Amino acid sequence: MNEQAKPRGDILIVDDMAANLKVLSTMLTDNGYNVRPAINGSLALKAASSITPDLILLDIMMPGMDGYEVCQKLKENETTHDIPVIFISALDEVVNKVRGFEMGAVDYITKPFQMAEVVARVNTHLTIYKQRKEIEGLNAFKDLFIRTVSHDLGSPISNILGYTEMLIQDGDRLDPDYAKQMLSRISTSAERMQRLVNSMLDLTRIEGVTLRPSPLLLRDVLDGVFMEFQFPAQEKGITVRPPQNPIQAQINADPDLIGEVFQNLLSNAVKYTPANGEITINVETDSSHVFVHIDDTGYGIPEEDIPHLFERFYRVGRTEHIAQQGSGLGLSIAKLILDRHEGEIRVKSQIGQGSRFTVSLPIYDPQTAAVNL
Ligand code: ADP
Repeated sequence: MNEQAKPRGDILIVDDMAANLKVLSTMLTDNGYNVRPAINGSLALKAASSITPDLILLDIMMPGMDGYEVCQKLKENETTHDIPVIFISALDEVVNKVRGFEMGAVDYITKPFQMAEVVARVNTHLTIYKQRKEIEGLNAFKDLFIRTVSHDLGSPISNILGYTEMLIQDGDRLDPDYAKQMLSRISTSAERMQRLVNSMLDLTRIEGVTLRPSPLLLRDVLDGVFMEFQFPAQEKGITVRPPQNPIQAQINADPDLIGEVFQNLLSNAVKYTPANGEITINVETDSSHVFVHIDDTGYGIPEEDIPHLFERFYRVGRTEHIAQQGSGLGLSIAKLILDRHEGEIRVKSQIGQGSRFTVSLPIYDPQTAAVNL
């Protein structure tokens, strides 16, 4: 798919008159938009909540549910309430424009349609919507930044300041071994800060990033990650068992991002499994998805913590978990990446026995991909 062939936006048109739908659809399709028609309010609500459009053109006067009511329902629903709605009314219809704006509409278009006007208004509102999303993204970044600084950077910074202060004041009188110990604590704190900053940048990059998916062999992704963990696992006396069966599945994924999911999961498996444990990876497929199971024989996760694991900064409060270095961001990053690949992640765990993290991803099928182009 090349850049030019990409639609400029996905627009849902709601009108009970087939002739109007046709005029608007042709006009907008010719101008590079992807258009979906709906002939009444309830079909429009279904269409909008199953695949969120970028903008909705909504006729006011319709039998059954009228445009005001459809708009109100769209605004009440969390998945659709942000979508800009432009009302359509005929010049001779007596409609209450103020009521429309109160319902959350952003603009009006009157029939008969002037092509240049429709395209200009649609364009303007798509641009405003996109810019608003960008601002929201920046605000989310600001919130995350402030939370991280206050939540996790504070203690390593004060460690570093405390130890450097001691070294500056008493450095020449200190026992060299003791001084070395302080330096290594400084270094540990700095590493912790570096990890946090990297995770935070990862999160914001993933949120804002345009995915660059390409067909990949899952085996290649996993092989790359296993290599990285062989050494840390070995050091801890943990046996890592890679999948035994040959993996044929292809996925359509951003190679940089998808590797990070498995990296985070394996890193956790190594961290939260005591010496001499085992980590086993299995891969299964059904007709549409591939499932990667990562099992460990580690500390396990209490049932009440499981629903929160993918929240930012969430860590299990048990001693053996807290004893490991961590920021509570790894799993939220993994989930974010999977969301953007139509993938999922699930956890099963038993305290003291171990955990199973399962990642599922749609299998890439070159044949259907070709049809969709
Ligand atoms: P962290 O940086 O703390 O490891 P994550 O977001 O990756 O952050 O994980 C969140 C929490 O989930 C961890 O702090 C840990 O308590 C728990 N956890 C994650 N993976 C495992 C695992 N394989 N076994 C036991 N607990 C785990």
